[in-house]
Amino acid sequence: MTETSVRTVLVLVENTADAALRSPALEALTLARTLGEVVALTLTEPSRQALDQLAEAGVDRVLQADLGDAPREIPVVAAAAVAAAAEHVRAALVLLTSSFVNKEIAAHTAWRTGAGLLIDVTSLADDGGRLVGGKRVFAGTWDTECAITTDVAVATLRPNALAAEPAAAPGAAVVERLPVTAAAPARLELLERVVHEVSADASGVVRPALAEAAIVVAGGRGTAGDFGPVEDLADALGAAIGTTRDAVDEGWIGHDAQVGQTGVTIAPRVYIGAGISGAPHHHGGMQAARTIIAVNTDSEAPLVEISDFAVIGDMHEILPAAAAAIREHRDATALS
Ligand SMILES: Cc1cc2nc3c(=O)[nH]c(=O)nc-3n(C[C@H](O)[C@H](O)[C@H](O)COP(=O)(O)OP(=O)(O)OC[C@H]3O[C@@H](n4cnc5c(N)ncnc54)[C@H](O)[C@@H]3O)c2cc1C
Repeated sequence: MTETSVRTVLVLVENTADAALRSPALEALTLARTLGEVVALTLTEPSRQALDQLAEAGVDRVLQADLGDAPREIPVVAAAAVAAAAEHVRAALVLLTSSFVNKEIAAHTAWRTGAGLLIDVTSLADDGGRLVGGKRVFAGTWDTECAITTDVAVATLRPNALAAEPAAAPGAAVVERLPVTAAAPARLELLERVVHEVSADASGVVRPALAEAAIVVAGGRGTAGDFGPVEDLADALGAAIGTTRDAVDEGWIGHDAQVGQTGVTIAPRVYIGAGISGAPHHHGGMQAARTIIAVNTDSEAPLVEISDFAVIGDMHEILPAAAAAIREHRDATALS
């Protein structure tokens, strides 16, 4: 990039067909604005609400890839659209939110465009025209920085790496159709679509997805199989529910909620681990949390030792008391 040219940043935004944009997409748009001129890309028709949010995020130009009958659920097909859009707008940076599927789309896009690839960054900055991404590695024990040395960069941004903010001035969010020719590779066929069951509270309000939640309340073997207190506190905080492999192996909760080496890696703003010892296999999956709170009967549990705050006691008493106090505080502040 020359000093005078403005970098074009293409941001893939998802879930636009019938829903609002999720927080990770708004965070990616916020970061993208600091790096150049933002163009949003959608693979489906954006909803009115999504377009309003894109306008609020300062986006003038929205590309809607038209893939015809090609199955956009297949990452290699989606990547064909992302690469075509990147070439169409001459993007110097393609930014996606970090999810399993997006990481695969990012890799295919980087291969197609000859771009340098950074996965799971928590920061991206311009360093004399070069993009430098920061990421935590080795189970959150090392902070590293990598510079992209190619003309085009592809990066995926971890949820909760920064706070989403509206732009100083709204954009026009004008939609432009982009026809893309793509097909599933030979011998790869989409056989069925399975809609994932989502976690919801008692009144049916969907809880945030574990991998992208800002707050996670996790319960382990100390729950003794009763996740009621964990759900109670999670719902008071609007948090996702996490757990350990031992609780999953006991059949107390599904594997989708497992945090750790053989589960989901998370980096929420707040992680609350109740009745969890903090074994290395679990620890590796949540160590990047900004604030760690442990609730444990054992003051010497490893999770207590790495926590920012710890409450020593029975989680079956502490969690409901905390949930009640949070609700009471919320009601009081709503009235005043
Ligand atoms: C190859 C491999 C991969 C693995 N992958 C993962 C993984 O991805 N994720 C993962 O989590 N684990 C994983 N494990 C398992 C991991 O090693 C631990 O066994 C597991 O994390 C421990 O779960 P826990 O903390 O719930 O149970 P425990 O280690 O038994 O800890 C229970 C804790 O609860 C406390 N407690 C008990 N009663 C109460 C109470 N009433 N109130 C408050 N505190 C209480 C206890 O003091 C204790 O600290 C893996 C293991 C292997 C071998």
